[in-house]
Amino acid sequence: MKTRAVFILPLGQKEEKPVKAAVDPGLCISCGLCVSSVPTVFSWGDDDKAQAITGDVPQADEHETKVAADNCPTEAISVE
Ligand code: SF4
Repeated sequence: MKTRAVFILPLGQKEEKPVKAAVDPGLCISCGLCVSSVPTVFSWGDDDKAQAITGDVPQADEHETKVAADNCPTEAISVE
């Protein structure tokens, strides 16, 4: 009878890269969609254009931030 050794390897922990958001002020038309839908990520700048508050997107807001980017009428939001 053959025997086989079985090794159980620990799962490698994948390093999570923080999601970043940015607004191109040259494209923003100040419609307010992103600021009203994700106020923890977007706010108004002094130029009355939306801006990403810190650029770092809290994990809990990642989905809504991506939805806001998809729904931005001028595609001014980038999320990476
Ligand atoms: S959704 Fe787009 S156009 Fe509207 S405020 Fe935000 S960045 Fe500006």
